[in-house]
Amino acid sequence: MVTTHNLGFPRIGAKRELKFGLERYWRGESSRDELKALGARLRQLNWASQKGLDLAPVGDFAFYDQVLDMSFTLGNLPARVQGFHGDALDNYFRVARGRSAGAAEEHAACCGGVAAGEMTKWFDTNYHYIVPEFTADTTFKLDASRYVEQLAEARAQGVKGKPVVIGPVTYLWLGKAKDDSDKLALLPRLLPAYVELLATLAAQGAEWVQIDEPVLVTELAPAWREAFRTAYAAFAGGPVKLLLATYFGQLQENLPLVCELPVQGVHLDTVNARGEVEPLIAGLPADRVVSLGVINGRNIWKTDLDGVLDWLVPVAAQLGERLWIAPSCSLLHVPVDLDSEQKLDAEVKQWLAFALQKLDELNVLAIALREGRAAAQAALSANHAAIEARRASPRVNNPAVKKAVASLTADMGRRQHAYAERAAKQSALLKLPAFPTTTIGSFPQTAEIRQARSQYKAGALDEAGYLAAMRAEIGRSVREQEALGLDVLVHGEAERNDMVEYFGEQLEGYVFSQFGWVQSYGSRCVKPPILFGDISRPRAMTVEWIRYAQSLTDKPMKGMLTGPVTILNWSFVRDDQPRSVSCRQLALAIRAEVQDLERAGIRVIQIDEAALREGLPLRRAQWREYLDWAVESFRIAANGVGDETQIHTHMCYSEFNDIIHAIADMDADVITIETSRSDMELLDAFDDFKYPNEIGPGVYDIHSPNIPTEAHIVQLMRKAAERVPAERLWVNPDCGLKTRQWAEVIPALTNMVAAARTLRQQA
Ligand code: GLN
Ligand code: ZN
Repeated sequence: MVTTHNLGFPRIGAKRELKFGLERYWRGESSRDELKALGARLRQLNWASQKGLDLAPVGDFAFYDQVLDMSFTLGNLPARVQGFHGDALDNYFRVARGRSAGAAEEHAACCGGVAAGEMTKWFDTNYHYIVPEFTADTTFKLDASRYVEQLAEARAQGVKGKPVVIGPVTYLWLGKAKDDSDKLALLPRLLPAYVELLATLAAQGAEWVQIDEPVLVTELAPAWREAFRTAYAAFAGGPVKLLLATYFGQLQENLPLVCELPVQGVHLDTVNARGEVEPLIAGLPADRVVSLGVINGRNIWKTDLDGVLDWLVPVAAQLGERLWIAPSCSLLHVPVDLDSEQKLDAEVKQWLAFALQKLDELNVLAIALREGRAAAQAALSANHAAIEARRASPRVNNPAVKKAVASLTADMGRRQHAYAERAAKQSALLKLPAFPTTTIGSFPQTAEIRQARSQYKAGALDEAGYLAAMRAEIGRSVREQEALGLDVLVHGEAERNDMVEYFGEQLEGYVFSQFGWVQSYGSRCVKPPILFGDISRPRAMTVEWIRYAQSLTDKPMKGMLTGPVTILNWSFVRDDQPRSVSCRQLALAIRAEVQDLERAGIRVIQIDEAALREGLPLRRAQWREYLDWAVESFRIAANGVGDETQIHTHMCYSEFNDIIHAIADMDADVITIETSRSDMELLDAFDDFKYPNEIGPGVYDIHSPNIPTEAHIVQLMRKAAERVPAERLWVNPDCGLKTRQWAEVIPALTNMVAAARTLRQQA
């Protein structure tokens, strides 16, 4: 009857073994063979965890990134690394991470330094992939060794493997033509490599190949739709069966196209596209496999198994052997094992499922479908009890919060007066010079800070000791800023581990895992906080720190908060209410904090929205709706203050062109953005739009240890002044300085302040 399978498994390891292995290797502390052995061990563990499945993914493991793996499989290496004569794995890391000429002693003669490949978001997830690079001359040459090796490993382990391949159309779509040529024109050259790959996989014993084409859930231009027809026609009648995998959204207008392609099966993400199950079945020829992604591969909640069975049982009766079930997408986006969690709130823990638990759920569904629900009764009852407990829990449902959100009014999102009037009042109060200088919030997180925090967490340092240590750091930051002559100061964020976690820890409705790591890119992982219940703020979160910092100086001290949209987008969110509702709850909590800061005499308050753009839906048709509630949430958080209080917001590197109207709607008095690497060209969007409020375009790249010169900053600000009237410009770095050393920060900011003075004299 039903076949179970999985689209991909997290490769980082339950305890981040791959991360630590990679970093050891990169530091030269372990050998290449040791790293390769670790990779093999992780694959073996992952397959062992998936042994209950009828088909397990092969080739989903990657040392750094699955897209980069695909580029190497297809022989599409950037020209700058093609002359390399060392080990292929080292070359792979050179594309992933880049290498400065100095560090590449071994290969100084052949290749010198190379720039890292560009990285960008994998669809609407927080995973980042290495962008394939194309030019009009790109050619492809298959290297299937990775698949051959891993299929052999799987076979030796008794696993029935299903190779996972990124489909040709999605592969081209993900890449970037460096010479602005038409990347789709490469399709005829690309397809033979795929045909050869499929033949190789068949020769290695693969019956099915999962071919991932997630671009099918986005709006495709006609040429891209045509590319699907061309590509899959080239594979028709080939030696393996193809499961065309779509995920992260609905097929919508692409559904008929999918039904038309000559593949043997189609995977649909029913978490996002439950309504497309019937049309897909109706549209597909009667011999096709229908794979339904019924377990959410993007979040950490238990599946309501009875709820799924209610609609799946009839579908199974209809499809018989043709039905496959799986998670909605690769489990790459969830942590590995809930059982690792020893300290997680026991009640909330019962409601959760990480990758391994999701596979257990899949297995329960399979038993119920094959043998009837009674055969899975114990597991189904336990699941039902957990789902009901969560639904009814007073920890999840807080009537006061629900009432507050229900009674939100448009007025609460509006300032008292328009920007021009506010600006006049703020300027009278703050008395800032032209080209005011400030920083984005954090100062270096020194070894002492980290030590004090970990000692405090471990109980080795008491509350008073911790407070004193943090106050000392704040004092140092204030003294340094006064000596530098900055105009609007910050407290430096010494007490914050992370800009989202810090707030999540103080809000009701959040829990934190110990090992809930998810790969962000390469060896980098994030541990998103888990937003499980209605959000409330039991007490002020930042006021005492900021009040203390303000007490040390006569200069304005900037209050520093993370905005509701960013907190939401960097968390695991609830699946029992729309994201917009959770966001409004967060907005009310931040609003209360903003008002408390104002009451404490803080005149300038920054609300960071670094992740605003990250939440954009995959389909443009849905952007408007997202931006409406996201901007409204920011406005609710920010706008409960008087005209005299100056609201800042900050965004890291981002495209602004297509969302500039939303940025303007946020109506922050001042927005600081990351611009230095774009040579101020990012400001064109603000110029074209006639953005009305103040802007602080970042004047130096905080990711680099380089010290910017005064002349360079002056030059950048002149460019900025060609686009934004000088009287509305601020001078600040690109982002927070927490990853830098004081020894870098002092000279950099000295030059920045000097540049502002020069600009004032010339104004
Ligand atoms: N205020 C934060 C900081 O300075 C902002 C960080 C960010 O934008 N990512 O660290
Ligand atoms: Zn930033």
